[in-house]
Amino acid sequence: MRKSALALGVLLTLSAAAPLAADGAADGAKSKPKAQLALFQQGSIFHSGLRNTHTIALTFDDGPNARTGEVLDALKEMNVKATFFIVGNQARRHPDVLARITREGHLLANHSATHAKLNSRFDEDPERLLDQVRGVHEQIAPLMARGDKFYFRAPYGTWRNAHADILNADPELRHYVGPIYWDVGGAISMSGDGYVMAAADWQCWRRGWEARTCAKGYSREIRRKDGGVVLMHSIHLRSAGLVRQVVPALIEEGYRFVRLDQMPEYRQYETPERGMADAGKAPQHLAALRPEDIK
Ligand SMILES: [Zn+2]
Repeated sequence: MRKSALALGVLLTLSAAAPLAADGAADGAKSKPKAQLALFQQGSIFHSGLRNTHTIALTFDDGPNARTGEVLDALKEMNVKATFFIVGNQARRHPDVLARITREGHLLANHSATHAKLNSRFDEDPERLLDQVRGVHEQIAPLMARGDKFYFRAPYGTWRNAHADILNADPELRHYVGPIYWDVGGAISMSGDGYVMAAADWQCWRRGWEARTCAKGYSREIRRKDGGVVLMHSIHLRSAGLVRQVVPALIEEGYRFVRLDQMPEYRQYETPERGMADAGKAPQHLAALRPEDIK
């Protein structure tokens, strides 16, 4: 009895993940020798291709938490889709918000299990690095829509060459594109005569700025670059206010809003589309499951 229940649990887990878990071997068997696998890159992906295109990819890091729902409310009212870089231990505390993000058409992405600074300690202990990425993958993948792609952003932007080799050796995690950097939202910058020329939300809140003030920095940097990947966070009291201050004017100005999987620049890192016929080949992914994950 127990054994069959266990087996069923495995099957359910696999079928939930199957549409997402592309398998390089299966593609290879179909004579696609030049198949470009999505792989973790040795350095951060700085070039988004969105500057000077009047196109914006809003990205919200570090959630979900109790404030993230307000950000989702604002995006819904404006009919804007974004990408949310999820931290695993936050998702565990707010599973309802996690589910809502994807249900409302936003893209879930991976921002590590504990928001650890991925420094050299993680090269010395590869299992710890794998756990940081795999943990979140197993939380978000079953919730994502068929065809959604996987993206990773490193906490604090900290990354090392050696991380790529470790993660790309994993048959599931090698389907990630990352680490994804940003064009807008990295730091506060002021002009000589006191104008906020650029802003980073966590720095704004630390300085006690209102959303309105912080928004000036974001809006000016976006207009100056005429688009880009925008770094924000969805976890602060003023996060939703910032969105409401920044986005409507840009919509008026004809800016287009995209998720990361709608950006041509990142296609070069992606796995080729997998045929529908492969979607049912769930048992191939058994190897990717650790015994402790089989419930
Ligand atoms: Zn972060």
